[in-house]
Amino acid sequence: MSEFSNPNLEVLISAEKIQDRIRELGAEIARDYAGRNPLLIGVLKGAFIFLSDLMRAADLPLNVEFIAISSYGAEMRTSGEVRILKDLDVAIEGRHILVVEDIVDTGLTLSYLLANLKSRGAESVKLAALLDKYERREKEVPIDYLGFKIPDKFVVGYGLDFAERYRNLPFIAVLKNPEEAQMGLPMKPSEL
Ligand code: IMP
Repeated sequence: MSEFSNPNLEVLISAEKIQDRIRELGAEIARDYAGRNPLLIGVLKGAFIFLSDLMRAADLPLNVEFIAISSYGAEMRTSGEVRILKDLDVAIEGRHILVVEDIVDTGLTLSYLLANLKSRGAESVKLAALLDKYERREKEVPIDYLGFKIPDKFVVGYGLDFAERYRNLPFIAVLKNPEEAQMGLPMKPSEL
């Protein structure tokens, strides 16, 4: 069964549009960070595909690290508290940090993470996000390099999942019927 032409998906941003926008963002990043050897930090898992395309579009010397975080669930979400599941392998004091994230939704995860990285003595901390679900924002998060603003719909593909499925879609799609999409995996209510 084809996943890419699954009738439960409605394409929101085509693969071609994503790649065109990433080429522009990469060129901007290469210009802005010339001579500064930035450290790109990908937020696992959702950002890994965006990060891999973005860094290949940014023609300059750079380093890459990954961090994995998880919010505590419904009650803790409002406090913005998150748990670091996998921390960075290097110190970031004095470094120019570019955090790479798949989507900014409420902004709670990112506002915690950006503050955490600043507190470690980074020289600068900026944010690149592929998608901005701006209507749902609870905490203001400045996005320095943005792919696309999107409406308040649950989206999958290009790294974003629903119950760990759909990360491999080369485009961003809206899930028409979440019940049909689950494949017997446990539901994550915080992502609905
Ligand atoms: P925030 O703290 O509400 O901004 O949460 C951001 C995180 O929620 C993202 O990194 C995603 O993992 C997840 N998320 C939010 N909206 C969506 C969506 O539409 N599809 C898939 N994951 C989402």
